[in-house]
Amino acid sequence: MTFDYDLFVIGGGSGGVRAARIASAEGGAKVALAEESRMGGTCVIRGCVPKKLMVFASEYPEQVQDARAYGWDASVGSFDWTRFRGALENELDRLEAAYRGTLLNAGVTIYDARAVVVDPHRVRLADGTEFSVKHILIATGGRPFVPTVPGAELAVTSNEMFHLETLPKRALVVGGGYIASEFACILHGLGVKVTMMYRGASILRGFDDEARGIVQTTMQARGIDIQCGVDVAGLHKAPGGIVARGTDGSMQEFDLVMYATGRLPNSGGIGLESLGVGIGVRGQVLVDEWSQTAVPSIYAVGDVTDRINLTPVAIREGHAFADTVFRGVPTKADHQLVASAVFTQPELGSIGLSEEAAKRQHSEAQGPIEIFAASFRPMKSLFAGREDRVLMKLVVDQASQRVLGCHIVGNGAGEMIQLAAIAIKMGATKADFDRTVAVHPTVSEELVTMRKPVRVV
Ligand SMILES: Cc1cc2nc3c(=O)[nH]c(=O)nc-3n(C[C@H](O)[C@H](O)[C@H](O)COP(=O)(O)OP(=O)(O)OC[C@H]3O[C@@H](n4cnc5c(N)ncnc54)[C@H](O)[C@@H]3O)c2cc1C
Repeated sequence: MTFDYDLFVIGGGSGGVRAARIASAEGGAKVALAEESRMGGTCVIRGCVPKKLMVFASEYPEQVQDARAYGWDASVGSFDWTRFRGALENELDRLEAAYRGTLLNAGVTIYDARAVVVDPHRVRLADGTEFSVKHILIATGGRPFVPTVPGAELAVTSNEMFHLETLPKRALVVGGGYIASEFACILHGLGVKVTMMYRGASILRGFDDEARGIVQTTMQARGIDIQCGVDVAGLHKAPGGIVARGTDGSMQEFDLVMYATGRLPNSGGIGLESLGVGIGVRGQVLVDEWSQTAVPSIYAVGDVTDRINLTPVAIREGHAFADTVFRGVPTKADHQLVASAVFTQPELGSIGLSEEAAKRQHSEAQGPIEIFAASFRPMKSLFAGREDRVLMKLVVDQASQRVLGCHIVGNGAGEMIQLAAIAIKMGATKADFDRTVAVHPTVSEELVTMRKPVRVV
């Protein structure tokens, strides 16, 4: 049987673009990709990239302050949001065009349209055009979840944060995950008075307790009002702004309320349910380790599968799928020891087991865990009169001496964890770290100079 396409990819984000490119350029497949919004997806258009550029923008006031401590006659002046937003939009246009160009160069046909699945070998575009296809890849990503509280429509999500007409004077960020924490720091850095409301006991749940504790304390010390153990019961408009009623009965007024209370997979309304593709309780497309669904011709990668919702993971999954199905190289995406960073101020870089997870999962099964940790005020900010602390922490299996986790808080933690991740992924032991001669004077030299465990758990 002949098909219009060997592969039809639905979704032009991190996972879909990689899979389409490899299947076409390296697998020789006839490939089409449909994208209903902008090419590049969440990461490029409304996630990692614009966020990181906003992080950079938000860091300048502190850098200028520090420059003064270092003898420079510098002042930060005012921030022109409109100018920055214009430059950001230009950069996103450039990136979107680059993604499109890469796909076209690889021989992929692009449809700028919403696509749905009609049957295991047919897809339909919004204008009704249908194609017969041998394989379908669902790479439709995720979307922000906003709980149904009265007045929720007054709030924005991360999607809208890059398009604000003006910067607010007072902002409420609801949530305590990495996106909430990053935006709280970004807004604070840009001069906004920021409040965070989070129903949990402390922000960044799931990360190492000691590390997230330092991030939270530092954010608070810098002036972000973090209110934990309280949620928003409702929002309403008032003459001066938006009033948030807390579950503790408090009433607080803001100019902007941003919800960052999690994300859900985009699996609904694309025809999957009726075909027998398994859908999980959060709406995630259920796949096996080859990213294949219960319908053999339909695969899914990236956030829509809700495995590890990070760009490099979606890319790996997309690549592995293309290798397996179109290049004759069976490949499973590896979800073990995936490093990640939270771009708060200070940054948090993390890989492997937290102390708590090691205690819970590992020590019961395999014996005690040694914790090596150093927390101190780094030279650069100490000189500038800041109270900031960094953390270098290793979670080590006592019996094998293998490093199971590494957690870094401080400037550049994202960059540092990427490099530590190579060693840890290779199975480095504490002795391997110790026989590596320190680079001095650096913050990260502490990672190779911690002699005795601070505790055994
Ligand atoms: C604010 C924010 C910050 C983030 N920061 C980071 C970070 O620092 N590091 C990191 O690794 N990850 C980060 N992420 C997560 C990262 O963006 C995602 O993990 C990644 O984009 C997932 O890629 P994907 O291919 O699965 O989906 P997406 O990139 O979401 O792409 C899916 C695409 O499918 C399209 N689509 C959906 N349905 C259809 C349809 N029916 N027809 C046609 N097109 C459709 C959508 O328009 C979208 O473009 C961040 C996310 C957010 C929201």
